[in-house]
Amino acid sequence: QHSLPEDKVLVPVEVTLKPSSTAKIEDVRSAVEGMLEKRSLSYINGPIPVPLDEAFLADNVQRICVCGCDTDEGMHTDNVLLFWQVKPIVHVFQLSEEGPCEDISSDGQSSSFNEWILPAKEFDGMWESLIYESGLKQRLLRYAASALLFTEKGVDPFLVSWNRIILLHGPPGTGKTSLCKALAQKLAIRFNSRYPQSQLVEVNAHSLFSKWFSESGKLCFLQVNIKYPVLVLGRQVAKLFQKIQEMVEEESNLVFVLIDEVESLAAARKAALSGSEPSDSIRVVNALLTQMDKLKSSPNVIILTTSNITAAIDIAFVDRADIKAYVGPPTLQARYEILRSCLQELMRTGILTSLQGCKNVMLPNYACAKERLNALDFHEGATFMQLCKHLLETAEACEGMSGRALRKLPFLAHAALSNPFDCNPIKFLCTMVETAKRERSEL
Ligand code: ADP
Repeated sequence: QHSLPEDKVLVPVEVTLKPSSTAKIEDVRSAVEGMLEKRSLSYINGPIPVPLDEAFLADNVQRICVCGCDTDEGMHTDNVLLFWQVKPIVHVFQLSEEGPCEDISSDGQSSSFNEWILPAKEFDGMWESLIYESGLKQRLLRYAASALLFTEKGVDPFLVSWNRIILLHGPPGTGKTSLCKALAQKLAIRFNSRYPQSQLVEVNAHSLFSKWFSESGKLCFLQVNIKYPVLVLGRQVAKLFQKIQEMVEEESNLVFVLIDEVESLAAARKAALSGSEPSDSIRVVNALLTQMDKLKSSPNVIILTTSNITAAIDIAFVDRADIKAYVGPPTLQARYEILRSCLQELMRTGILTSLQGCKNVMLPNYACAKERLNALDFHEGATFMQLCKHLLETAEACEGMSGRALRKLPFLAHAALSNPFDCNPIKFLCTMVETAKRERSEL
């Protein structure tokens, strides 16, 4: 470890290997470090071109990306650091293309968990696409990083206590599940020198207990033969945790366990307590909680949980979560950034006609757009500023919509166009406002 001159800023640089590359991670890291040293770069969040004149890098590297100071991307993209202010921390990784390994239970019923090898191709870019204010992503990343460091350094948990449980709660569609997956992916990348292998096990608590729920989501002990689900469930839980335990025993593995909709565990337990046959069913819920508790003591596990209920959740292990973060609907600024990225993508792919004949037009971020519009600085072309103005108005019109609804809106708007093959971005935004109004009235 080098001592860091006080005035230097640590900047993560993520290097994605080509799928075909068989180069050693260590060799690529040195080559990239050498390249960064040679070039007097300025560091801005975003990609750095892979140098084509360096054959080793050109052959093996797909992408090099500066990840800023983990500020919420999209919000502070103008932060520029000069090379002498920066100590780049290079992380080299290859994306797994395997896809989820789904568990199909022996009776052919729906699966209760998915397993991913991280970093996975499916989650590539997810972290960057999630937009929150107030440094939520940064807080989560730092928290998890500190927890892993404490573990690695062998801090005595009786003297300093911490745990590796994170609970994200808030209304549906605010990106909680995605944020958990994206966080796991980020940590797998950032910690790959300590933990060369990483997995994510996604447990859908609701599906695990769905055999107990009626259509309306209410527990229905009286309608089913409780012995059957308890048996199946007991087997599923046992199998699941046996699998996780095997992963955890390998100490070079970093294991993330994501439990979605954790409130259904609490609901199942509560109903079991008041149900007609409590003893069997509660045993399963309790078994799951005990297993979770046991797992918590393993140093290389991070438990990520989500809940759509914001009120207190009555579950022992959730009570002990160190980070309980509320994830709310996007603010105006976040809505602008989400819609901006949508629009940018539709222009990149040619779905929207290009502006002033330029396909790669970059729309300004929220702060810049506000500033320029306030200053009535229309030098850059009236059409361009008109577009910014419309985008801002669209973001205002979308108040109350979730991130999920916002990311769907451009598609719905496109489908509502009278002529989808000739669509200028300003016209498109007007249709989007109409569509947003319609969507909200149908809520
Ligand atoms: P939740 O678990 O809270 O119900 P999801 O993780 O299923 O939400 O979110 C669904 C999708 O909605 C995400 O994959 C993402 O595309 C979009 N989304 C939600 N919130 C945001 C956000 N704050 N920024 C960007 N995209 C978002």
